[in-house]
Amino acid sequence: MSMQHPRITREKKTISVMVHIYCHGHHQTKGDALCPECTEFLSYAFTRLDKCPFQEHKSTCGKCLVHCYQPEMREKVKKVMRYAGPRMLLHSPSLALHHAFDGRKKPQTIAEFKKWKAQNQA
Ligand SMILES: [Zn+2]
Repeated sequence: MSMQHPRITREKKTISVMVHIYCHGHHQTKGDALCPECTEFLSYAFTRLDKCPFQEHKSTCGKCLVHCYQPEMREKVKKVMRYAGPRMLLHSPSLALHHAFDGRKKPQTIAEFKKWKAQNQA
């Protein structure tokens, strides 16, 4: 067991579901299988989440992760989100709802985050 916050665990589950939807639709994979490219992308996304400075206060990956991704991974995550986002509602409605809720009213930048944290510690 790691010390990982549930927020990050859920975010990992969300990105994993999204990458699977995308890969199945684009690379003819099925079930739990992912093509090598998407496997690499998902492990990259997980690494970014582990290093995310926002941790439990982070916004959704679509709004936040794109800022910390390398340019080529950023392009990929945008494609994945655009394709899998609407489909996730049918696929995993509860995850999609959590995702929409998590995206609301959260700091989007490190500067905003620090300000938000200072206000909430008072
Ligand atoms: Zn793929």
